[in-house]
Amino acid sequence: MKNIYKYQGNNYMNQQNFRKVFTVYFIIFGVLVTLFASFVSYQIQIINIEETLEKQAQEILFIQRNNILQPAIKQMDNIAITLANNPVLSDYILNPDELKRKNLEEIFFAVSGTNNQIMQVRFIDKNGIENIRVDRQTEESLPFVVSREKLQDKSNRDYFQIVSKMNSQELWHSKIDLNIENGKIEVPYRPTFRIAMPIFKNQTFEGMVILNLLTNNLIKSIQSSTVFKHYIIDKDGFFIVHHDNQFSWNKYTGVNRSLTDDFPNDASLILTGGLIGKEFFAYPLDDVFQNDDNAILVLKPKQEYKTYLIHEKIKSSVVVVILSIILSILMALYASSVPSKLQKALFVANDELKRFAKIIDKYVITATTKTNTTITHISSAFSKSSGYTKDELMGEKINVVRHPDTDKKIFEDIWKTLENGEEWCGEIKNKKKDGEEYWLEQNIIPIKDEKEDTVAYMSIGVDISAKKQLEILSSTDMLTGIFNRRKIEELLNIEISRAKRHKRALSVIILDIDHFKHTNDTFGHHAGDIVLQKTVQVINQALRQSDMFGRYGGEEFLIICPETNKDEAVIVAEKVRHAIEEFTFEIVGKKTISLGIAEFKDDDTLEVLVKNADVALYSSKENGRNQVTVYFN
Ligand code: GH3
Ligand code: MG
Ligand code: MG
Repeated sequence: MKNIYKYQGNNYMNQQNFRKVFTVYFIIFGVLVTLFASFVSYQIQIINIEETLEKQAQEILFIQRNNILQPAIKQMDNIAITLANNPVLSDYILNPDELKRKNLEEIFFAVSGTNNQIMQVRFIDKNGIENIRVDRQTEESLPFVVSREKLQDKSNRDYFQIVSKMNSQELWHSKIDLNIENGKIEVPYRPTFRIAMPIFKNQTFEGMVILNLLTNNLIKSIQSSTVFKHYIIDKDGFFIVHHDNQFSWNKYTGVNRSLTDDFPNDASLILTGGLIGKEFFAYPLDDVFQNDDNAILVLKPKQEYKTYLIHEKIKSSVVVVILSIILSILMALYASSVPSKLQKALFVANDELKRFAKIIDKYVITATTKTNTTITHISSAFSKSSGYTKDELMGEKINVVRHPDTDKKIFEDIWKTLENGEEWCGEIKNKKKDGEEYWLEQNIIPIKDEKEDTVAYMSIGVDISAKKQLEILSSTDMLTGIFNRRKIEELLNIEISRAKRHKRALSVIILDIDHFKHTNDTFGHHAGDIVLQKTVQVINQALRQSDMFGRYGGEEFLIICPETNKDEAVIVAEKVRHAIEEFTFEIVGKKTISLGIAEFKDDDTLEVLVKNADVALYSSKENGRNQVTVYFN
């Protein structure tokens, strides 16, 4: 019992371990899966960020180009075209006079008033001399007409040189540069954009209209957003607009700032016309400005915005990760409790099985032998009932416990059955180590391998010694030790069945002691008993092994002679009669017996057979006793 409890303890430990190991594995896998899923979703979200940024950039680029820059320039173009085609100006060119001039000055003045970005509107004649000029000092101040004496010769200026060689109705756009006054860049910077149109009369260049636009406001409208830093870059990589204003116009101001400072990876891509890179989105402005700047509008996503977005994603990912881990822990605990319950049930079942095995070992007599009957295993019960220890029996042949009295026919039957591959059942008398006999009711089973070859024998036995003892007691006559009437009749019934079945001869002999009453009366009942016992001993010695001998009544006995006809029975009976006749009993002296023989005939019952023998016995008595009579039918 101690062992069993200890064993259960171990099981409990195993179960705990299993649960721990399972939970840990589950958690680890749960965490790994969660992290992997988070990583994947994080990557997807990063791609999302890129896509969102690109979309936003495209929108901003489109709005700035199409809704801000384009209309503003277009408006100025229209003013230049309108002025260049103004009939008053045509008139003036053909026949310049003071009135027309005044009219033109008013028109130019009016035009300047329409937009405070217009800093200058001029008509320069074919010789490069300013004829009409309206100026504005600052965006806040009103325009004014420049007096005649202040008009200058601009024939050497690049814009005059260019426009004078252009075709009719062609528009010219200058680069955007900083206004230079008296040979110096004016501070604060006044980025200037010039729009001019030549005027032709009869295919002859007659002069030009030129507008100076202050692009401050226009450029200010290209403002950086919370998401992007905005740039306008010219074809050489100089900053026309830099989100940090100190770097704008670096071409002119000499401020040391290169494109690679802002776009360390993508600078060359931008200059070669790339529209999208790792750190920028670009949009060419050629068709807006239509000048030699070949400007591009560039947006650079703000790192802090990207970082902010990523942080947001990470935050939400972390929340998801934590929730997933908590969930996987809960699931692990739940899931591990299910198999551990099953395992517990298994352990309990296993314990039960082991307990049964122990009980079987303790109470059931089992032995396993090789096919050559060498013992390989015996149960404790076997050891107990045989009186041998397990060690003493191991390796011995099984017949060490067989009783030498056992009929050889039983062993022949056992081997025949087992060699047929069948199970043998029956009662066997065994012998203990101390020589005492004991009986087993045994099942001997051939153990087969997968090829159906017998590899061992296993016997399972129940000790039936007590039953056997009872059986012997109930079938033995107490005075003489031979079969009693109940038993001899039982045996006779068996022999009658056998004789019928196998068509074999069968004879019975009934014998009675002659004048026994007299013996009793003369020598006493005790002496009579002794005569009975001695008679049995004498007759037993005269009988054959196969004959069965029982006490049928007071001093009447029955002998069953299987496979014996009446003639052979006569020989047996005569031998018995003679033996008694020859024997001298103590005290009593000589005694004789009378015998009757009946041979079994087809339909005889036990009663008929015995009655026939009795009839024959009666004849023996009638005819003078101490003789054998055969019943004839
Ligand atoms: P017969 O030759 O005709 O057989 O004469 P008998 O005296 O033997 O006659 P019977 O068979 O009538 O007598 C049997 C006697 O045997 C009667 C009974 O007292 C005696 N007897 C029966 N059983 C026992 C016994 O167990 N012990 C003793 N001592 N006597 C017994
Ligand atoms: Mg008698
Ligand atoms: Mg009698």
